[in-house]
Amino acid sequence: MKLPSRRWWHASIRKQLIIGIVGVHAALILTIVPDFIHRQRTLLIERSNARTLSQAGLLAESVVPQLITNDLAGISDILGALARDRSVRFAMVTDRDGEVLADTDAGRVGEYLVDPVSQKQLHGPVRTAVVLDSHDMIEVAAPVTIQNTLLGWAWVAGDRTSDNAQVASLIRSGIAYGAIAIAAGILVAVVIASTITRPVRLLLAGADRLAHDNLDVPVPVTTRNEVGTLAAALNDAMTKLRANRTALENARAELEAEVAERRRAQEELEAANRIILSANENLRQFAYAVSHDLQEPLRAVSSFSELLSSRYRAALGSEGGEFVDYIREGAVRAQDLIRAVLQYSRAGGRGDALPEPVDAAAALKIAQENLRAAIEERRAVIECSELPRVKANEVAVAQLFQNLVGNAIKYCSWEPRIRISAERDGAHWRFAVADNGIGIDPRDHARIFRMFTRVRGNSYPGTGIGLAICSKIVDRFGGKIWVESAAGHGSTFYFTLPAA
Ligand code: ADP
Repeated sequence: MKLPSRRWWHASIRKQLIIGIVGVHAALILTIVPDFIHRQRTLLIERSNARTLSQAGLLAESVVPQLITNDLAGISDILGALARDRSVRFAMVTDRDGEVLADTDAGRVGEYLVDPVSQKQLHGPVRTAVVLDSHDMIEVAAPVTIQNTLLGWAWVAGDRTSDNAQVASLIRSGIAYGAIAIAAGILVAVVIASTITRPVRLLLAGADRLAHDNLDVPVPVTTRNEVGTLAAALNDAMTKLRANRTALENARAELEAEVAERRRAQEELEAANRIILSANENLRQFAYAVSHDLQEPLRAVSSFSELLSSRYRAALGSEGGEFVDYIREGAVRAQDLIRAVLQYSRAGGRGDALPEPVDAAAALKIAQENLRAAIEERRAVIECSELPRVKANEVAVAQLFQNLVGNAIKYCSWEPRIRISAERDGAHWRFAVADNGIGIDPRDHARIFRMFTRVRGNSYPGTGIGLAICSKIVDRFGGKIWVESAAGHGSTFYFTLPAA
């Protein structure tokens, strides 16, 4: 885990720069200013020491004749001249034993120097020495000699008050200048750090805008260094992103328009479909009603014409009997046709029923069951490969097989052999019902799927509705039906249904 202080320190380059510059600057000022004050102070002390030492030396040299002649007044004059120097606190001349012969403070003349420091000097080696060195004062004793004979001592005390005042003023100035220098340093550091980090902050603001998807304001490029290059690159990226976004928005708008258009088209299609379904249903009901209602009068025509033919055959004569037979056959034929229409209208189930998975093999079994009598009577052989599942309606698929297999048996003048198979064809299954029957002339291939179209009408029973029903069923589930055949060479009926 990172410490909060570390996080704070790493949070801003500007802060780091300001603190760094100010820190180094303050450290320098705090080192240089005290060092300067210290050196100045040492210089002042050494100067006052040297001055006092030289004054003591000079005094010792000056008072030699007066000491020899015991001219105390003369010594006092010399001391008076020395006392005018404000850096001299006091000065005196003593004899070898420490008796004060003359002093800037006349009151001390005749006294003996008895203090330990003076005593040590008086009885120590004969040479100039600093007797006392305190904060306020320096006292120097210089021997007064002539030809190595000690005559006495010249004592001069230097005053350090003015030096101390100078040092104090120096310290005050040093503190003031130091404070001003540090304040100026802070100001300069802030300006420098702000100048250096401004492009970085602009870049940061740009990156922030980018993160918040605000691509309209570019980053101002204020420098040519690496940061400037980065800002330019960011601007490029923003421009590209903006272009991409616009393209995307356009594409989305187009897509939305397309979706809306498709939805509208689908709604129209659904409405049209509903209309068609309802029209189909009406048609189916109409066909049913018409055919049902027609059955009755036709049944009457057929049964009464039969009665007429059986009871009044003799009265009708041969020609009249023939006419009545025509009427009866016509009525039966009309009944067959009406039944066919009824069958056609029902084929494929109701239009609004959804297709469901159907096992084609099971549907074929139903068809074979329905055709059992014909199969046995004609000794038909039906071979079948494995059949798939399709998306349709079981009754419809059974009817499809029943019509095709029924025709294969019917349109065959010898023992029928029928082969049923299926092959995958994209999203559909393609079924084939092949027979060894009489075949169909290629000119008739298209028309046999129309209603009531028969090719060899008189030789084989039928109404010409079977293949029309097959076509309607296949259409209903989105498939196709066609035939490949040549007269006398058998036929293969193909149809497709969607895979389940
Ligand atoms: P129908 O069998 O009642 O005549 P279809 O619609 O089933 O009506 O057949 C239409 C015509 O197609 C038939 O009249 C017949 O000539 C021809 N046809 C149908 N199936 C076959 C087949 N397997 N072999 C030869 N001809 C066929």
